[in-house]
Amino acid sequence: MAIEKTLVLIKPDGRKRRITGLAIDKLEATGLELVAARVVRVTEKLAQEHYKEHAAQPFFNAIVRYLAGETHAIEHGRLLAMVWEGEDAIAAVRRAAGATDPEKAAPGTIRGCFGRKCAGLMENVVHASSNPSDAAREIALWFSPSDIA
Ligand code: ADP
Ligand code: MG
Repeated sequence: MAIEKTLVLIKPDGRKRRITGLAIDKLEATGLELVAARVVRVTEKLAQEHYKEHAAQPFFNAIVRYLAGETHAIEHGRLLAMVWEGEDAIAAVRRAAGATDPEKAAPGTIRGCFGRKCAGLMENVVHASSNPSDAAREIALWFSPSDIA
């Protein structure tokens, strides 16, 4: 097993619903280390770049608006971006996050506890990188090299 870094976003719905700390509790329970964090005001351009692998999907515009906070207007456009590090960090965070669909996410996972479906959109509270190449691309999109040195 390798020491990895992975990107985690507490999406705007999580921030608005004041469950940022509860999600971080579950991430800390993995034993991984939090190495960087920043609150970011997200533009549609940044959200499009983040989700560019999904550009051809029918839900692309919906998830861009969701990540840019436009579906949760009170805290418009802000989310918490973090980098977590440790052994097998990418898979460990995916396990803590739970399945993409909140209705299928296991009890006790972040999405199982706090996610919901709203008008077909999976409001699943967190983003977590899927593999090492996605993690490298996503960390470079949200953080400067000096943030994670
Ligand atoms: P994950 O976030 O688990 O890596 P994906 O990368 O497949 O999942 O999808 C990115 C995000 O798009 C998901 O977290 C979810 O918010 C949303 N999403 C994925 N699939 C669908 C879908 N079929 N309908 C609506 N929203 C979806
Ligand atoms: Mg993904």
